Amino acid sequence: MRYVSTRGGMPPQPFTSILIEGLAPDGGLVVPDRYPRLTTQDLARMRHLGYQDLAFEILSRYIDDIAPADLKSIIARTYTVATFGSEEITPLATLEPGLHLLRLANGPTLAFKDIALQLLGNLFEHVLAKEGATLNILGATSGDTGSSAEYAMRGKRGISVFMLSPRGRMTAFQTAQMYALSEPNIFNIAIEGVFDDCQDIVKKIAGDREFKRRWRLGAVNSINWARVAAQVVYYFKAYFAATRNEEEAVAFAVPSGNFGNILAGHVARQMGLPIRRLIVATNENDVLDEFFRTGRYMARDFAKVVATSSPSMDISKASNFERLVFDLADRDPATVLALWDQLDREGGFDVSGTPLAAKLRTSSFVSGRSTHADRITTIRSIAEKHRVVVDPHTADGIKVGLANREPGVPLICVETALPVKFAQTIAEALGREPERPRAYIGLEELPQRCAVLGVDADAVKAYIAEHALA
Ligand SMILES: *Cc1c(COP(=O)(O)O)cnc(C)c1O
Repeated sequence: MRYVSTRGGMPPQPFTSILIEGLAPDGGLVVPDRYPRLTTQDLARMRHLGYQDLAFEILSRYIDDIAPADLKSIIARTYTVATFGSEEITPLATLEPGLHLLRLANGPTLAFKDIALQLLGNLFEHVLAKEGATLNILGATSGDTGSSAEYAMRGKRGISVFMLSPRGRMTAFQTAQMYALSEPNIFNIAIEGVFDDCQDIVKKIAGDREFKRRWRLGAVNSINWARVAAQVVYYFKAYFAATRNEEEAVAFAVPSGNFGNILAGHVARQMGLPIRRLIVATNENDVLDEFFRTGRYMARDFAKVVATSSPSMDISKASNFERLVFDLADRDPATVLALWDQLDREGGFDVSGTPLAAKLRTSSFVSGRSTHADRITTIRSIAEKHRVVVDPHTADGIKVGLANREPGVPLICVETALPVKFAQTIAEALGREPERPRAYIGLEELPQRCAVLGVDADAVKAYIAEHALA
């Protein structure tokens, strides 16, 4: 397997060369040069595998330059009952016949991002050790991604994490999750500003090539290909759990922001998994819903992104979306290059009336949008009908999923976080606090530590230079 750029400007690379950086040197995204196809016989054979064996079957097709025995042991160390709470890792709960909840949020930070990032942490450690290299990860977070990344990298040899967060602007739970980590390779930097300030600082520092090279700075953002590959596994696992044989097809409803999660569903479908529909659910920040309905992709101004009660889906543009467009364009880099050039110049593009729109119509994607009121109603009705409390993001997915449900096709709604992370919205919907998993009782009382800095890229640079791995 070799990896190429969606914009055509990168010589084919093996997996370990693209592991750390999802962005190609030409500004495109790294993608596999083809999707391995599985036959019905392959699927039938994979149906009864446990999570680890299934993960190896799928990941070894994308990761073929790590020795199989090493990859097996990385997977075995990653997907454990201790880390994910059950043998199934991503259990499927049936709400009613034909309606399922895919539980992806039982990892250490109670969000689906753990499934990919826990693997990434072990892959990074392995590859860096082989190369005798070190890596300093720099990132900005408004809550979920930062904690997932820190829990994945804590205690890892050869890796340090510098995570910027807006001081006093995360929930008490999210703050405690991050700032209570005591591993010496985790550096939380609270910035006296908002999330956009944090992100600007990261961009500024990453734009200083000399500094970036000197300190071997890297990122773990959602365009990382290994994250997408890790997520492909649970689409297979859920399909097998919801069906009896390979004749059956299913639909997935996915709460979407940067398009990483549902892109993995698209990849699974390209590999031959019988998926009839991939249902994209957005919140009020509906840049993706607009595209799938109209063919128009209009990135939003930062100022136009509204803060919602499903905050992990508050995006101005969907960073992984370029990978889907590449496939819709029959993997023609020139088409992608032209569209993204137009996006840069004009802030958007419109593919309606082009061959791409025709391709889109025959693709499996449908979409919908959910609002705060929908979220509240859905959390309430699912709690009343099925005795299950879902988080606001998951509620967006269920709302849009049910609106696009087809009779006779099992609908799998993807759970992306546990309700305890968003207690305020749950209290608004149900009049009570969400249940807290036992391991998280007293989390906010643990001692916390972080550095506090102003909105000042030079101060952050100085901090990194003082604490980074050489
Ligand atoms: C990150 C996140 C999402 C959005 O996932 P994408 O892969 O960015 O589309 C949805 N829900 C929760 C809880 C998340 O943390």
